[in-house]
Amino acid sequence: MKRIAIIGGGISGLSAAFYLEKARVAGAELEYTLFESGQRLGGSMCSDWVDGCLVEAGPDSFLTEKPWAASLCKELGIANQLIGSNDAQRKTYILVNGKLVVMPDGLMFMVPTRLVPTALSPLFSWATKVRMARELLHPPRPMQDDESIAELVQRHFGAEVVDRLADPLLSGVYGGDAAKLSARAVLPRFVEMEEKYGSLSLAMLAAHKKMAQAAHKQPPRPLFTSLKDGMQQMVDAIVARLEPDSIRLRSHVLRIYPESSGWRVAIEMNGDERYDAVILATPANAAGTLLDGVNRGLARDLLDITYSSSVTVALGYYQDQIEKLPAGFGFLVPRSEGTRMLACTFVHNKFPHRAPKGKGILRCFLGGARDEAILGFTDDEILETVHRELKDILKLDARPIFSRVYRWRGAMAQYEPGHIARVQRIEQRVAEIPGLALAGNAYHGIGVPDCIRSGMDAANAMLETPAESLSPQQR
Ligand SMILES: Cc1cc2nc3c(=O)[nH]c(=O)nc-3n(C[C@H](O)[C@H](O)[C@H](O)COP(=O)(O)OP(=O)(O)OC[C@H]3O[C@@H](n4cnc5c(N)ncnc54)[C@H](O)[C@@H]3O)c2cc1C
Repeated sequence: MKRIAIIGGGISGLSAAFYLEKARVAGAELEYTLFESGQRLGGSMCSDWVDGCLVEAGPDSFLTEKPWAASLCKELGIANQLIGSNDAQRKTYILVNGKLVVMPDGLMFMVPTRLVPTALSPLFSWATKVRMARELLHPPRPMQDDESIAELVQRHFGAEVVDRLADPLLSGVYGGDAAKLSARAVLPRFVEMEEKYGSLSLAMLAAHKKMAQAAHKQPPRPLFTSLKDGMQQMVDAIVARLEPDSIRLRSHVLRIYPESSGWRVAIEMNGDERYDAVILATPANAAGTLLDGVNRGLARDLLDITYSSSVTVALGYYQDQIEKLPAGFGFLVPRSEGTRMLACTFVHNKFPHRAPKGKGILRCFLGGARDEAILGFTDDEILETVHRELKDILKLDARPIFSRVYRWRGAMAQYEPGHIARVQRIEQRVAEIPGLALAGNAYHGIGVPDCIRSGMDAANAMLETPAESLSPQQR
């Protein structure tokens, strides 16, 4: 009987547990135990009901084009609970000189693909528009050393596009800083497109054309997918499938030690237990600490992956208090605007059924790589900041009917230049240690679907390894 420890009960560890449980039910001879430091499972995936409104504390949805989350929901029997974002209302604004400016049509991520809406948009100065037109002549460039996204975007479109688009989009998604995130790791398609086409706009147009042709054959899909009762529904559905005895909450793992026949897992206040294999589904820095005594180089590389923290604030309003808000999914704020708020989602527009009739929800996002300090503020200070900034930006003076503040310390891995090479080194070293696998948002994607895939891959790696070769002795 193979005994497998999974350390970390976020969506990555839960997915690993689900795929092991699935194999067990199908006849695989194994037992698994999921260790989670905290009192609940799900990690940063967590939904709350407040006053009839569904509030997402962490992720509110996932990208539809990445299949692993929807596939897991199908396997869990909750595919009928999947919902799409209300893309008819999909408009996003950028705060420019204190005013909300709508992102022009045809902007794909941060690349303009339609000349007229871009030329007419007040989002960019004329100098930037001329630069965007010239970008169409950008020659192909062979892939070189890794650079930051800010460098890549600046080379193509100039500093204003970094400030008004790249940076706010990345701080909204990654809690990151465009000047510190790796172009090859975060936007590999941009790097490939530059190599093949030179111009990112021409490359995006070609990709768009292909997508439009494929779309003729399929009904259009929403950009984001979520679950009717919130992302927590996925967590609850997984937990319902697992053996209750295999879950250990409030079980902080202090160290893992290789032994001649397996691993010893040391749990805080609870002694040691023996396992044949270990899946580390914690943040990379926690995995590095756990592996310090196992392989120094591996631990060092894991500890070198940095993380950013964030704060989300959910505010509930009566509809008549917010009826003057612009239509759309919400707005992003460039750093040059000097606010603490990085982004705000109009939840009742993006996923209408999350607020009952007569109510609306705003979700604000603060913190990120450049404002760790906000985590030290009290809830009241954070709420005051958010109210003041919403009043300035949206002219929204009304006090909400409810508010919730959620802090996410060190939750979002930052893929800095050199990330791909570092992950390759990590994976080579892990492959040399039998009975060890890693999962989580630190390696091949930070989004929920990527985390699910990482958990599934880690489970499969442990299932495929024959029991007799699991001993880390041959390290
Ligand atoms: C505010 C926010 C908004 C986001 N929005 C989106 C979104 O809309 N869409 C999207 O796709 N993604 C989004 N993400 C990203 C995505 O939610 C995360 O990348 C993903 O949930 C991470 O899951 P995980 O299991 O890898 O890590 P985590 O959720 O961090 O879980 C790791 C778990 O390991 C436990 N742990 C750590 N050390 C130990 C130890 N030594 N012993 C035992 N347990 C330990 C921790 O307590 C934790 O529960 C968002 C993230 C945040 C923070």
